Amino acid sequence: MFKKGTKLYSILTGCCPKCHQESMYTFKNPYNLGNTLKINERCSKCNTKYRLEPSFFYGAMYISYGVGIAFAVAAFVISNLIFKTNLNSSFIVIVATLVVFMPIIMRISRNIWINLFIHYDQSQSKK
Ligand SMILES: [Zn+2]
Repeated sequence: MFKKGTKLYSILTGCCPKCHQESMYTFKNPYNLGNTLKINERCSKCNTKYRLEPSFFYGAMYISYGVGIAFAVAAFVISNLIFKTNLNSSFIVIVATLVVFMPIIMRISRNIWINLFIHYDQSQSKK
């Protein structure tokens, strides 16, 4: 399921959506705050341009809304159903989760966004 060549692989690892050979991000660690969203201009392996057009990644904001909801629901289910917290504590847990995972949420949304437009190309990955 997480194998190279699947969209999920590119989305979860943040690697080039075309060849899956290297990370799109200049810094691998998303918690390198300030550089979380720093993205390379092109893939050095297959020369794919990541920014298809100016402000291409604005669209990722729509995705990050959905991804944020997914994290919030997961946080709520875990705190409320497993740890039996009341609604107020669950709310705090949700907010804390969203803050802590913000860099990851932003990256995942960008990865999903770019994977909607650029598809895996096996011939590129063999070079
Ligand atoms: Zn590439």
